[in-house]
Amino acid sequence: MKPIIGIAGNILTKHAEVFHDNLVTYTPQGFVDGVQNAQGIPLVLPIGDPETAKTYVNQIDGLLLAGGQDISPFLYNEEPSIKIQETEPKRDYFEKALIIETLKQKKPIFAICRGIQLLNVVEGGTLYQDLSDYPDWHIQHLQASIPSVGGHSITIDAGSHLASILPDNYHVNSYHHQAVKKLADSFVATAWSKDGIIEAYESRDPAQSIVAVQWHPELMLNEDTPMQALFDDFIQRSKKA
Ligand code: MN
Repeated sequence: MKPIIGIAGNILTKHAEVFHDNLVTYTPQGFVDGVQNAQGIPLVLPIGDPETAKTYVNQIDGLLLAGGQDISPFLYNEEPSIKIQETEPKRDYFEKALIIETLKQKKPIFAICRGIQLLNVVEGGTLYQDLSDYPDWHIQHLQASIPSVGGHSITIDAGSHLASILPDNYHVNSYHHQAVKKLADSFVATAWSKDGIIEAYESRDPAQSIVAVQWHPELMLNEDTPMQALFDDFIQRSKKA
């Protein structure tokens, strides 16, 4: 049986000419490709009523949290700083409900970019609303290069699950201006940038399979990179669920 992977979808809230000014639900194609390449069945979940989260999670074998808007700072009891960018509270609260139900059902999670941030917040962690709030920030995390290019290196904890998937000191792309500040107690950091930003974490609970990464592996699938291996690993984890 091929596992069904719920991909938390996004909404284009601004009118776009290419869609004849209609609003659209979407997910970037890289997430679909990554799951399909790994022989998983992607199922895009449109933003909806948080009360419907259980119905969705009941039908999936793993949850993929995708990139996108800033996380509303209200989720970690802060007011928006002057540097916060667009937020989409409806998405935050729907995905929060998906996360809570997925953790309850102990189904695997693969969290990417915004996903690593939201998952941390839902479990009680906090974020830097902007990297300029981090005193040791000195690496470009909002890279000027195209997404298939690795923008900065990461150091991976040799004992982590991530280390069994990726080579250490690998170059990852980087498109974030927010980052994990206080990591939730239920997680353990597994990779860092050279300026000390948490770039990946996993769950402390061996019964809860989580890989969360701050970069965009779905945008590095077509180059000579091992990023498809993260999707292959996720599908394997979802089969065991
Ligand atoms: Mn980065």
